[in-house]
Amino acid sequence: MAHLISREIRLASRPTGLPTPDNFTAAQIEIERLAEGEVLVRNLFMSVDPYMRGRMNEGPSYVPPFQLGKPLEGGAVGKVLESRAKQFKPGDVVVSNWGWREYFIAAPKTLRLVDPAMQPLSVYLGALGMTGLTAWAGLKMVEVKAGEIVFISGAAGAVGSVAGQLAKILGSQVIGSAGSAEKTKFLREECGFDVAINYKAGPIQEQLKQEVPDGIDVYFDCVGGETLEAALSAMRLHGRIIACGSISGYNDAKPRPGPANLFNFIVKRLTMKGLIVMDWLDRLPEFEEEVSGYFLAGKLKNKETVVEGLDQAVPAFLGLFAGKNVGKMVVKLS
Ligand code: NDP
Repeated sequence: MAHLISREIRLASRPTGLPTPDNFTAAQIEIERLAEGEVLVRNLFMSVDPYMRGRMNEGPSYVPPFQLGKPLEGGAVGKVLESRAKQFKPGDVVVSNWGWREYFIAAPKTLRLVDPAMQPLSVYLGALGMTGLTAWAGLKMVEVKAGEIVFISGAAGAVGSVAGQLAKILGSQVIGSAGSAEKTKFLREECGFDVAINYKAGPIQEQLKQEVPDGIDVYFDCVGGETLEAALSAMRLHGRIIACGSISGYNDAKPRPGPANLFNFIVKRLTMKGLIVMDWLDRLPEFEEEVSGYFLAGKLKNKETVVEGLDQAVPAFLGLFAGKNVGKMVVKLS
């Protein structure tokens, strides 16, 4: 392989509050020669995800923090350029956690072969990737049934848009909240949501009461904060909540006070379960078989917002906190 230069994005400093472009730096490295047992991959698409904000903090979480001065990591889809490992050959399409860089050399155990016929390949970061698995797992954890009323926040995002469509396939009535009229239209017209609420157009608690006067059976929480509080008030007896994310507080320097209406848990005998998608990796084959079936049959849309070029990775990541994406935010590397 000819002399190869790879550009990458590194964490330059730990953000306080909302990250800024100054917290990141671009660098380039020379790709070395492959050693026996190694694989050289060129990334085609990389993922930016809200959970990465937590990894920019110093303290330990359920995943180790990003290291200062080192490239960030994250989901990516790439093509094998050269292989000295028997498991892979040039042209293979692989999913990895080696994002935020153009090329990398890796051990085979860090790569997962995927079907190149599935298009666009970025679907492996969205509906058929980590965010789709999160949506699928969350609905399983609270055992959503036909006829139930399911409320999803962050509904027009990567997880929410898939969770809503899967809940419709299960026969539920689906309500979603998102932050613009364009997004609520997308939810109703493209994802089949029964009701879509623009939480920026008025207090979410009042809108929820008006749109769903009989209450909700399941709440799929992607945002936390006021929306969680509104959902607690709207829950029906024996309602279930899936605690998936809390993006409204990810940039807070100090934790906010919790919901003021936790007493609903007692009165309504509610259950809330925390979800970490990595706990579900052993069920990936089952997920892929089921959800790729819906995708190929046209029953499930993989909506995405694609930005082009490694230079756009930081703006794309920051855009997640400003609602710039509809569906999965992905960066195309050309
Ligand atoms: P999204 O594609 O939903 O992107 C983030 C979206 O969050 C934005 O588009 C924006 O939409 C919304 N948002 C941003 N700031 C706020 C705010 N202050 N209040 C309300 N909404 C806000 O991201 P993902 O689908 O990848 O992730 C959704 C959630 O699920 C996140 O909280 C994430 O951390 C979590 N998650 C959890 C996993 C787990 O294992 N538990 C795995 C994957 C994701 P809008 O315009 O509607 O405001």
